[in-house]
Amino acid sequence: MTVRTRVAPSPTGDPHVGTAYMALFSLCHARRHGGQFVLRIEDTDQERSTPESEATIIESLRWLGLDWDEGPDVGGPHAPYRQSERAVVYREHADRLLDDGHAFRCFCTKDELDAMRSEQRARGETARYDGRCARLSAEEVTRRLDAGDAHVVRMKVPEDGVCVVQDGLRGPIEIAWSQVDMQVLLKADGLPTYHLAVVVDDHLMEITHIIRGEEWINSAPKHMLLFEYFGWPMPELIHMPLLRNPDKSKLSKRKNPTSINFYRRMGFVPEALVNYLGMLGWSMPDGEEKFCLTEMIDAFDASRISLGEPVFDVEKLKWLNGRWLREDVSDAVFAERLREWAFNEANLMPVVQLIKERVDVMSEVAPMVAYLFAGVPALNEADLAHKKLEPDDVKRLLQFALWRFEALRLWESEAIQATFRTLAEQLDLPIRDVLAPFFIAVSGSAVSPPLFDSMALLGPDLSRARIRAALDVLGGVSKKQAKKLDKAYAALGRD
Ligand code: GLU
Repeated sequence: MTVRTRVAPSPTGDPHVGTAYMALFSLCHARRHGGQFVLRIEDTDQERSTPESEATIIESLRWLGLDWDEGPDVGGPHAPYRQSERAVVYREHADRLLDDGHAFRCFCTKDELDAMRSEQRARGETARYDGRCARLSAEEVTRRLDAGDAHVVRMKVPEDGVCVVQDGLRGPIEIAWSQVDMQVLLKADGLPTYHLAVVVDDHLMEITHIIRGEEWINSAPKHMLLFEYFGWPMPELIHMPLLRNPDKSKLSKRKNPTSINFYRRMGFVPEALVNYLGMLGWSMPDGEEKFCLTEMIDAFDASRISLGEPVFDVEKLKWLNGRWLREDVSDAVFAERLREWAFNEANLMPVVQLIKERVDVMSEVAPMVAYLFAGVPALNEADLAHKKLEPDDVKRLLQFALWRFEALRLWESEAIQATFRTLAEQLDLPIRDVLAPFFIAVSGSAVSPPLFDSMALLGPDLSRARIRAALDVLGGVSKKQAKKLDKAYAALGRD
């Protein structure tokens, strides 16, 4: 049997270090066994998926050197590798389940479902679909279909008993069927949910080992049942422990930068990031902490993946990066790396355009643009003092802008400017007052080259990290505050 693994990111945001972590372990497992590694783009959530996100995911995984044998950009025998292009395949499979009586059409409206769930909760039961549409007569179903009633397709699930999930790292895990919902497989728009698409694709793409995050363990019974309904062999499951913030909560961008591009922009080298992600779930048999991808592949043994709670610690990553830079590159290569990172023609031209009118001698250039080649400036509360706004209002401003910038798809000067202008109008504040804290947050100083161009040059990851750091300087936003701000933000209207 040829070992085949895959990584299946959803292109709904920045390329996440968690995606690289799954990709790394999946790649190592496939390569160690002389098998293949597949990249599949899971973009069935049409509202949240964007082509820009897919492009940056592909770019950043390539930068890390986690190369795949088959994928949307390289093709392969099981193309297409983008789920939005496979709708017909999923519909055919949903029909097959309907024909075999393993699935049913559900016509329940949102109001009906809400009422059903609140009644269940009031009775102290777990809220789950009660199967009412599974009991509709064939005539009733035909009548409602003829009437054009909106419906979804749900899978049938046993009423009682337990499902035993075999996890490659944890052994058997028992999950009661009563905890498993009659999952929607096909949505009213005819597109699949993750659960149908992942099963169909893992089978059709001949995946033998599914390596993914442990947040999917509870979904495994549904997937196993679908494999059984289709009469397909079940791939092996390996659920990786989730990456965590230093406080042990699930790694989140509120507490730790999570975008691969942030680390790239900060000047981490791909070898160090790959090494660090490897270290989080794996150790070399000889205990050596520093290893390259090839060494990890050669020594890889999935059964030795650690089940500890891996904390993504930027300081440790920095230490490791330092070792890579000091121990593995000659001075000439170091210089070359610097050029690749920032000091190349493509990067310097826009910087020149920005500062040419502002300097008399070239020795003024470096101090003026140092912030464009630096990390996150060290600020204190006093730096962010605003002539007209209270610290809480500044915080609100920073948070609102951050949310807008997280959603901004095209990162260029004009779009950045438009984002600020809209926000100023919506908040009924003069644009000058809105921009003041961002000058400080972004450049570390109130006098700097133009803000919008600077942010465009810094890129989305570093710009947002600096705004977030400014927020932290002002005491950060607690979950409770975030909820309140979220409401006020929603009331602002569209960006
Ligand atoms: N699209 C899912 C995700 O982004 C993939 C989960 C899986 O690997 O099955 O988490």
